Amino acid sequence: MTSESPSLEKAAADRCCTVVSKEWRKHGVRVERIPQKHRGDHLRITFAPFRTRPAGQLLVLGHYDTVYSSGTLTKMPFRISGGKAYGPGIFDMKAGIVQALFALQALLRAKLRQQKQIVFLWTSDEEIGSESSRKLLETEARRSEAVFVLEPSFGPHGLVKTARKGVGQAELIVQGRASHAGLAPEEGINAVHELAAQLTRIEKWNDTRRGISINADIVEGGTRVNVIAERARAVLDLRALRISDMHSVESRLHALRPVHKGAKLKITGGFDRPPLERKNCAALFARAKSLAKQMNLSLGQCTAGGGSDGNFTGALGIPTLDGMGAVGDGAHSDHEYVLINTMPGRAALLAALLATC
Ligand SMILES: [Zn+2]
Repeated sequence: MTSESPSLEKAAADRCCTVVSKEWRKHGVRVERIPQKHRGDHLRITFAPFRTRPAGQLLVLGHYDTVYSSGTLTKMPFRISGGKAYGPGIFDMKAGIVQALFALQALLRAKLRQQKQIVFLWTSDEEIGSESSRKLLETEARRSEAVFVLEPSFGPHGLVKTARKGVGQAELIVQGRASHAGLAPEEGINAVHELAAQLTRIEKWNDTRRGISINADIVEGGTRVNVIAERARAVLDLRALRISDMHSVESRLHALRPVHKGAKLKITGGFDRPPLERKNCAALFARAKSLAKQMNLSLGQCTAGGGSDGNFTGALGIPTLDGMGAVGDGAHSDHEYVLINTMPGRAALLAALLATC
């Protein structure tokens, strides 16, 4: 069954939500559909221990929305070839949802005396910043002792993501004063020159070793060649690996003062997703690695430059292991795929973690 689920198309996303919920309902777990006005509905699935009061909660987190608009399937159909399954959103992260479903089945079949309640949360707007799901996922994370994020892993060996950069954007607007560039240059305040001076300053804050990057990726300013530019703006991409660096980048941005007399600066924005710091999940990763070893799997870790909903749960101080999903490549591209033969092992590892955490 194929079902497209672009973040921005509610009707299509809702259809996919129905497909997912049907599969989970088959297993006797509580499936709640949380209606949304503008985005696809979110799904909360609860697997409660049999006949006992749950001793805590574990959260399995993911999203079913994709970056591909409706109709992509005609150009990029689901297909299996050479041990790989291709399709839009398969790696990021529909295969992760499938793996979690098999993990649930494994837990049901093993008939373990499950101590903790397990909540699976599948949201519909991760790819566009999680505006409609953030509160919900933070609430569930606060109730949980650990969060497993079924986002794609990294590389052919399926590294989990034990650190993720925080991501944000800011806009820097410069207000100068227009004047004739030939007749009265002294009366003008050049906003483009001011912006250039500020960007030269900001560029020096980049620190690859610490994982701080600030990039002016959109700039515009001025109107005509003989008019001193009155206005200029830059949109900055912000990334940091540490929460303290995130705060210092934000405060430095807001502390910027004009270089040219009379120019005015306006700075808005900041980090949307805080960094997921490695120390947050060191213990959880160690446990995952040792379980993997018992299953004859090797498990490595890496740092991701992009953010996910794991950044939100990690920032609350809840141990969060991200990149627990599929092994593959090509997220957000026309050759997105997963390696099929890795899926059972990944599902088994998740089941083992859920059974023992
Ligand atoms: Zn994703």
